Amino acid sequence: MVPSIRLYNTFTRAKEELSPLREGIVRIYSCGPTVYRYVHVGNLRTFMLPDLLRRSLEYLGYQTEQVMNITDVGHLTDDTFDRGEDKMLVSARLENKSPAEIAAYYTEAFMDDAARLNLRRADHYPRATDYIPQMIDLIEKLIARGHAYAVGGAVYYDIGSFPAYGKLSRNTTDKLLAGARGDVDPQKHRPGDFTLWKAAGEHRMQVWPSPWGPGFPGWHIECSAMSMSLLGDRFDIHTGGADNVFPHHEAEIAQSEGVSGHRVVTCWMHGGLLMLGGARMAKSAGNFFRISELEEHGFDPLAFRYLALQAKYRTKLSFSTQGLAGADRALRQLRERVMEWSDAIRPPEDAKVGDYEARFRAALADDLDLPAAMALVAELNRSDVAEGARASLLRSWDRVLGLDLDRGAPEVTLPAGASALLEARERARATKDFATSDRLRDELVDLGVAVTDTPHGQRWRSAPTKPS
Ligand code: AMP
Ligand code: ZN
Repeated sequence: MVPSIRLYNTFTRAKEELSPLREGIVRIYSCGPTVYRYVHVGNLRTFMLPDLLRRSLEYLGYQTEQVMNITDVGHLTDDTFDRGEDKMLVSARLENKSPAEIAAYYTEAFMDDAARLNLRRADHYPRATDYIPQMIDLIEKLIARGHAYAVGGAVYYDIGSFPAYGKLSRNTTDKLLAGARGDVDPQKHRPGDFTLWKAAGEHRMQVWPSPWGPGFPGWHIECSAMSMSLLGDRFDIHTGGADNVFPHHEAEIAQSEGVSGHRVVTCWMHGGLLMLGGARMAKSAGNFFRISELEEHGFDPLAFRYLALQAKYRTKLSFSTQGLAGADRALRQLRERVMEWSDAIRPPEDAKVGDYEARFRAALADDLDLPAAMALVAELNRSDVAEGARASLLRSWDRVLGLDLDRGAPEVTLPAGASALLEARERARATKDFATSDRLRDELVDLGVAVTDTPHGQRWRSAPTKPS
C-alpha cells in the first residue's frame, strides 16, 4: 500500500495529499535548461527537485513519468523579450556557431553536469524547436477563444480575458500593471499583456513561418505546448524554480487553461533559489559556479548534493565553499562508515530497523522532508543498531539520497558455508571456547574469508585463499 503523501502546492499555498490522475503513476513536467550557456549549481538545485520527487515517490511505491524540456530558442522573458536581445542568438554570434550547434553543445554539457549530481534522466527531453507547429496551434486557439490578439506580425495574450491571471503568484492585475517597467511595447493593449509570437527582425537566425508572418515563439508558450503534447491536458505535478512562478508559470496557466477550459496541472512545486554572496546565483550576473569547477577545486560533486539535501527544497539556500567543504567531509566519512559496516556480520532482524525505515518514509511523504531524512541518517549513525543493519539501511536509503554511499564498498557475498562457520565461531567466542574459535578462523581462511575480532563483534573481508 502506498502511504499518503503530502506535497506543497504553490497554487493553494498548502500541503495537499497527492492523488495521481492515473492509478499508481505520477506524471511530472519540469521546466528545463535554456541551452545557450553552461548550467550552474543554482540551476542544478532546481533540477534536483524533480529528481528527489521521483526517487521519493518510487521509494514509496509509485511509478513516475517525467518530461523536462530543453529551451533551444531564445529565453524570451516578458519585457526583456521585447527590448533585449535573444540570448541564444547572442551566444551564436559570440561563438561563431549556428544556434543549432550552440544548443546541441550546451544540451550535452547539461546532461553531463546533471549526471555528475546523480540526477536521474527524464523520460522525455523535448526540444522547443521541435514543437513550433504545436505552439502555433495553441496560439491560434487562444485567438479564436478571445484570449489573444495579433498585431503587426506579433501575437499577445490579453491578460484581461483570463480572470484567474495573477492567482498563482498572488499578483493582482493592478500590481501586474504597475510592475511593467520602462517603455512598454505600444502595440500591446495593456502593459501586462505578454508575447506569444514575435515578428522576426532583420538579422534573426531562428525564424519560422506562421499565420502572422515570419517570427518566433515567446518562452512561455513553449512549456504549454510541450507539456500538453506529451502529458495531455491534465497531469499531476509541474516543477520549476521559485523565479519561474511569475511570469513564466502564471503565463503557462493562462495559456493552457485558456485553451483547454479547465485546470491542467494539479500541483505546482517550486524549488528555492540558491544564493551566492547575498544575491541570487545567476548566469547573467556572472556570480555562479559550475559543478565541474567545484570538482576542479577537489570537491566531490555529490558534496553539493549532500549540501542541498540538508536544506528544505523550498527554502533559499546560501552557497559557500566553506559549507561545501563541510558537506564534502561529512559525505566522505559517511561512505567510509558504510564501507566499514558492510563487513560486519548481518545480525538477526532488529526491531529498531523497522522503526527507522518507517520514520524515513514518513519524512519523504511529508513534502519531501530530506533534511529530516538526513537527520535520521545522523541519528542512525549514533545509534546502537547493529552495524551490518545500519549499512544495509543506508544503502537502501541511498536510492533516494543518491550519494553513492557504497562507492568503494562493493557488496561482497560470503562463499557457501562461510556463514555457518561465522555463526559457529560467534557461539564459540561467546562461551570463551577459543580453541574452537581459532580452528574455525582457519577454516574460514581456507574459504577465502579473513575474520577479525572487534569490540563490536566479528568482521570479515575477502582474503586470498591459501595455496593448496
Ligand atoms: P534557465 O536555464 O535560466 O531557464 O534556468 C533553468 C532553471 O534554473 C529555471 O527553472 C530557474 O528557475 C532555475 N534557476 C535559475 N537561477 C537559480 C538559482 N539561483 N537557484 C535555483 N534555481 C535557479
Ligand atoms: Zn517552463
